[in-house]
Amino acid sequence: MGAGSPWDMVIVGAGAAGLTAAIYGGRARLSTLLLERLAPGGQAALTEAIENYPGFPEGISGPDLVRRMEQQARRFGATLLSAEVVTVIPAPEAIVVRTGAGEQQGRTVIIASGASPRELGVKGEHEYRGRGVSYCATCDGAFFRGKRVAVVGGGDSAVEEALFLTGFADRVFLIHRREEFRAARSLQERASASPGLEFVLDNVVEEILGGETVSGVRVRNVRSGDTRELEVQGVFIYIGLKPNTGFLPAQVKLDDEGYVVTDEEMRTSVTGIYAAGDVRSKSLRQVATAVGDGAVAAASAQRHVARAGWARESRGEGAR
Ligand code: NAP
Repeated sequence: MGAGSPWDMVIVGAGAAGLTAAIYGGRARLSTLLLERLAPGGQAALTEAIENYPGFPEGISGPDLVRRMEQQARRFGATLLSAEVVTVIPAPEAIVVRTGAGEQQGRTVIIASGASPRELGVKGEHEYRGRGVSYCATCDGAFFRGKRVAVVGGGDSAVEEALFLTGFADRVFLIHRREEFRAARSLQERASASPGLEFVLDNVVEEILGGETVSGVRVRNVRSGDTRELEVQGVFIYIGLKPNTGFLPAQVKLDDEGYVVTDEEMRTSVTGIYAAGDVRSKSLRQVATAVGDGAVAAASAQRHVARAGWARESRGEGAR
C-alpha cells in the first residue's frame, strides 16, 4: 500500500481477535494491515495451557495456538507491522491511524487492542516488578523452581496460573479476598486437590516485602483484621484486566468500565470503526469469543468497504 492509498482494513492488536479479523480480511481479498506493539498473540500467548478452545481435546499451549493463527493470517496475505498506535482520527473517506512508526490510513479500522493486567496498587508492587513481582506465570514461572510463591486473585487466571506454578514452586499460596471464587468449577476442584497449593481466603495483600528481591507478603484477614507475613520469593498478580483504549478518540463510546461498546455486528459509535475481543464490552472474555468477534468485525468491515464502492475485487469470502 502506498502512502496515498488507504488500506481496506487496519487492525489494531494481533491477539486472537485481531488475527482472526486478519484471516477473514485477507481471505476476502481486502488489503489488510495488522498493527501490534508487542509480539503477536495477546493474552492467549501468555497462557500456558488452553483447555477450552474447541478442536483441541487435549488442550493446546497459548503460544502454539496463536502462532498457528498468525501463520494463517500471513497465508491469506495480511501484513503485520510492529508499531504502537498512538491516535485514531475518524474521517469519512479514510481513518487516520497514527503510530510510533508513522501514519497509516484505513477505510475501516478494527480495534482489537485487548486488555492489560490490572495492578494491585500496594506498596512494593512497583519496586519489585521484575524482581519477584510478575503478571505472567508462563513467562516467569521457571525462575521459581523449588521456591515459594503467592498468586493473588480468584478468577480463572489466578486459579489456572496457580495450578501451573505448582509445577515449579514448592508451595503456592492462592490469596483471594473472598471465600468464593469466580473461576470455573473444574479449576477450583483441581486447585482443591493439588497438594502444592494452599488457599489463603478472605485475605488481602497489604504490602510486598523484600530486600534486593521479594521475600514475602503481608496479608490482612478481612474478617478478623489480623495481619501475618507469608514467606515467598515470588508474587503473581491476577486480579483482572483493564481495556487498552488510551489511543481512541472521544467519539468512540465506552461503557462504565472503559470497554468499547459495540452492536452485534461489532460496530462502534463511529462509522467505519469496529471492535473485537477483550477490549469490547461483553460478558465472556475467552479465546473462543475473541475469535468470533474478530470474524464478525471483519465481515462487517468488508460490507462497509463494498457498500462504499471501495472494494476492488472482493471475492465475497469474508462473510462466511
Ligand atoms: P476476573 O475474572 O475479572 O477476576 C479477577 C479476580 O481478582 C476476582 O476474583 C476478583 O475478586 C479479584 N480482584 C479484583 N480486584 C482485586 C483487588 N484489588 N484485590 C484483590 N483481588 C482483586 O479476571 P481474570 O481471572 O484475569 O480473567 C479475565 C477474563 O479472562 C475473565 O473473563 C475470565 O473468565 C477470562 N479467562 C478465561 C480463562 C479460561 O477460560 N481458561 C482463563 C483466563 C482468563 P472478586 O471475585 O472478589 O471480585
